[in-house]
Amino acid sequence: MRVNDWLVELLSSEPQVRREELSELRDAIDAEATSLLDASGVPVDDGPVVVSKSRLAQLDRCERSTVASWEATTPPEPPSVSALAGRALDHFVAQVLVGGRLRESSHDLRAALVAHGDHEALGRIDEWEGGDDGVEFDRCIDGLAAAVLDAWTGVDPSWAPRTQVPAVTALAGGRLRVSGVVDVELGGPHTTRPGVVVEVKSGAAAASHRHETYLYGLLVALRDGTAPAVVAQWYPGTAPAGVAVTIGVLEAAAERLLAGVRQWSRLLAGAPPSASPGVWCGWCRVQEDCDVAPVADGGKAVAVGDGDEAEYTPEVEGEQPW
Ligand code: SF4
Repeated sequence: MRVNDWLVELLSSEPQVRREELSELRDAIDAEATSLLDASGVPVDDGPVVVSKSRLAQLDRCERSTVASWEATTPPEPPSVSALAGRALDHFVAQVLVGGRLRESSHDLRAALVAHGDHEALGRIDEWEGGDDGVEFDRCIDGLAAAVLDAWTGVDPSWAPRTQVPAVTALAGGRLRVSGVVDVELGGPHTTRPGVVVEVKSGAAAASHRHETYLYGLLVALRDGTAPAVVAQWYPGTAPAGVAVTIGVLEAAAERLLAGVRQWSRLLAGAPPSASPGVWCGWCRVQEDCDVAPVADGGKAVAVGDGDEAEYTPEVEGEQPW
């Protein structure tokens, strides 16, 4: 299904969250966050506690690995084929929405990576050239580019499409910063269209993705002071899976956000992090020193593939600059 046809179906969607409800929710988040920061013992002079969408995802996987990434002074491991494919997909969607077309997938991707100064990705693609990984990557991005062209061509400009949009809000008197980067925003304030947020996903569908889109809905609502009407995930080859944003959706996201604030502020104040093994261990910085990681014959922790593997992007471990 073309995204524009899906958007036409949303034209009559009304925002379901009243401004007063959102304002009350924001006040409640603010009060709870303040109390969590007070209780954690994290020093105020250390600057704002930053809880981003990527950090929440990391904390969901493993506290010890999250702390190791935060403390690291060296770059993370080079991205895998699936991780770079995720970046490619974001670039293709942005190019079709803003530029209206794609010419040749690998040429267009290189141009986008150069424009974004993503030398890490460019170097990785050069390394793969001529090898099996290069062939796999080219086949993968050709398929993604075709799917993007099929779905995202022809979005009506009246939706004012925006891509890779920061959604940042300061809370608790500036002691907490919550943030995320929204893949696609359509309509909303300053347009005549309902607000729509779309998370673009390159991997297999997972239950956690829905909660991620709820979180984006909350981050956008806190940023704008008005909630989007619909949040959705889009996977190549499928129609967008949308959900109407209700106060219940935002409350569920707020609960998850505050759980992350509690967890992260406790760790910043020096609490010992727990270690939770999973598919992500294969990309962990401290796997060599971890006694609970799954171990292969060669003595190294390994990633055991499941539905999350394709979507796990180990390079997104640092904090966003905003
Ligand atoms: S190896 Fe696995 S369990 Fe151990 S710290 Fe890393 S991610 Fe956590």
